[in-house]
Amino acid sequence: MTAKRIDGKAAAAAIRETVASRVHDFAQRMGRPPGLATVLVGEDPASAVYVRSKNRATAEAGMAGFAHNLPDTISEAELLQVVTDLNADERIDGILVQLPLPRQIDATRVIETIEPGKDVDGFHPVNAGRLAIGLPSLVPCTPFGCLHLLKAELGSLAGLEAVVIGRSNIVGKPMAQLLIAESSTVTVAHSKTRDLPGVVRRADIVVAAVGRAEMVRGDWIKPGATVIDVGINRIPTEDGKGRLVGDVAYDEAAEVAAAITPVPGGVGPMTIAMLLRNTLVAAHRRAGLHDPEGL
Ligand code: NAP
Repeated sequence: MTAKRIDGKAAAAAIRETVASRVHDFAQRMGRPPGLATVLVGEDPASAVYVRSKNRATAEAGMAGFAHNLPDTISEAELLQVVTDLNADERIDGILVQLPLPRQIDATRVIETIEPGKDVDGFHPVNAGRLAIGLPSLVPCTPFGCLHLLKAELGSLAGLEAVVIGRSNIVGKPMAQLLIAESSTVTVAHSKTRDLPGVVRRADIVVAAVGRAEMVRGDWIKPGATVIDVGINRIPTEDGKGRLVGDVAYDEAAEVAAAITPVPGGVGPMTIAMLLRNTLVAAHRRAGLHDPEGL
């Protein structure tokens, strides 16, 4: 079998198009576009690339962008004050503080300071808790993007065996919550899991969010499974530029799976699309409007 390559770029483009048209409607109705503030602390090159592409996508969707680039010498108190000011700014519906933060700053305190209604990353304990008990919330962008791809591919996920590899607060745990809400039977694997290949072999759905290049091998995959590869790992190449690979050995897994996301071009583009979607949703909720349709 050669698996279908799930085109995350195309799926993300479709979401972004829908978001842009709803942004237009919102702006007509409210007299202002939804606003997203990004906060980048320091000059970590990967973080700077991510934030730049988020800012670009915000503008392309017709939203108002408020980019804050702060020095890595900033104190925790100063950063908390920036967040507090953004909470109070009526033009801003979403606040994204790019992680990781410099050592002197406690990321948990920063996340807890973001107004939950503006927490478009969905990392605030209020949003994590609401997701866990099935209440409307702002859902972390990467797992939400994975869920969208899975539903587009499989329709109902009810009763399917899902194995999520990784239990981070950013990807693994919210992914598991989303799959439970879809009535999948969910196993969360991590670094202490015994016989990981055996666990993964049971899965109709595999979501790999580990951060280890090509760890998941083809012979771990159940024939006909759907594989979502969240990992982004740079491996060395002879020309010195390096190459991006996922947590799944793509060529091997594609021989066995029914469908699989590539890296790059799979989950990555969905993360930004869902950030825009969350900002639009946050803007609607803050304005007392129903959630936008079709997203
Ligand atoms: P993380 O916080 O480092 O978590 C990694 C998880 O993998 C942990 O739960 C860890 O287990 C588990 N793990 C590590 N080694 C393992 C092993 N040998 N066997 C089984 N499990 C193992 O990472 P993350 O933030 O969730 O990100 C995971 C990957 O996704 C990274 O490559 C990251 O770059 C990528 N990512 C991509 C996007 C995107 O937009 N596409 C967004 C976010 C993250 P323990 O808990 O036991 O330590």
